Amino acid sequence: MTKYFSEQKNFFGNTNPKALIEKYGSPLYVYNETILRKSCVDVAHLINYEKFNADYSIKANSNLHLLKIAHEEGLHADAMSPGEIYVLLNAGFKPEEILYVCNNVSEDEMKYAVEKGVCTSIDSISQLKQFGRVNPGGKVAVRFNPGVGAGHHEKVVTAGKKTKFGVNLDLVKEIKDIANEYKLKIVGINQHIGSLFMEADPYIQGVKSILSVAEQFEELEFVDFGGGLGIPYHKQENQSRLDIKELGKKLTEIVHEWMSRYGRNIRVRIEPGRYVVAESSILLGTVHAIKKNYGIKYIGTDLGFNVLARPVMYDSHHDIEVYRSGEIVDGEREPVTVVGNICESGDIIARERLLPLIKEKDILGVMDAGAYGYSMSSNYNNRLRPAEVLIRQDGSDMLIRRRDTFEDIVRNFEV
Ligand SMILES: *Cc1c(COP(=O)(O)O)cnc(C)c1O
Repeated sequence: MTKYFSEQKNFFGNTNPKALIEKYGSPLYVYNETILRKSCVDVAHLINYEKFNADYSIKANSNLHLLKIAHEEGLHADAMSPGEIYVLLNAGFKPEEILYVCNNVSEDEMKYAVEKGVCTSIDSISQLKQFGRVNPGGKVAVRFNPGVGAGHHEKVVTAGKKTKFGVNLDLVKEIKDIANEYKLKIVGINQHIGSLFMEADPYIQGVKSILSVAEQFEELEFVDFGGGLGIPYHKQENQSRLDIKELGKKLTEIVHEWMSRYGRNIRVRIEPGRYVVAESSILLGTVHAIKKNYGIKYIGTDLGFNVLARPVMYDSHHDIEVYRSGEIVDGEREPVTVVGNICESGDIIARERLLPLIKEKDILGVMDAGAYGYSMSSNYNNRLRPAEVLIRQDGSDMLIRRRDTFEDIVRNFEV
């Protein structure tokens, strides 16, 4: 077995990191179509049940070209904002293939979804009343908070007693009363307990609890189990994968058993974001400076937290590969701290990481960068957001989003 992720997957197809940087510039998000399609297939067929579909949560990555690929593989989608609905409609998703899972939105933002024919899931009593005023007599879904959550970091635990999300389970009666008042039909129940679980159990527990909530509603058209399926970010330490087959098998049993109890076969949805896109991308960057400050060796790159925010935002780990002249660098290692070019001392991608001996002009590959990578990038420090390139199934490369230009960062001043 080869050691490196990019080699194992023939990630760069007919080209290599050096050629890509020369052609498209640095830094650069590179995506692999074969890997993306494989993850789409994993989730699209997770549960063996006729009325199952996976809604890709596009906040993880909303590149239009990648969305089209996900759609081709049969995924529907979750949107968190009118902008995401807009992008999805542009990518060819039908309104009925989109669920708008919103949080603290304005009346206008709700109206937008209603006008586009997109189903909305609201997550508080006050937002349900607002929906009733915007669309009396309409259909709506409700997001519940089962009181327990899970996740890899406090900031991504999205249910439980200390988060802003969802309606408390003891408010079912109040939800029904408000629905009656505005003649709303509650057609869906959803939840999302958190992100990046690597074992099936917490998810299964969450599913059982949302199904017991669903039983209290008679007219449901769907129940939605949420996302959060994890991927192994520590591949260089042989971290094992989430057993997706086993998860699928367990969920399939639970779903069939529950439907016979409910008396009707309603639609079942899940909302994976990260799982779909994370492993399909390697972020490339260039080493511009190397120095030692008081005993710590710093590798200075163009990979600031404006390009990839996860390490700074969540203390996230991303494996790193080193490339020189298109080849992977291996051999003797030393501990280094990899930093970006943003004027903040917190601008750190990897702290005290054991990496092969690095030289200026080497290219670094940051693994598993496809989810919450580009989508969380910014123009902080008036830096230009990078280009995105797709390695197609035939091994050729294709630009799927151009790099920002200086004109882009002054565009909105033209008023
Ligand atoms: C972010 C989010 C998801 C996707 O989470 P992942 O961990 O990327 O799978 C799903 N549902 C909701 C409501 C979300 O906010």
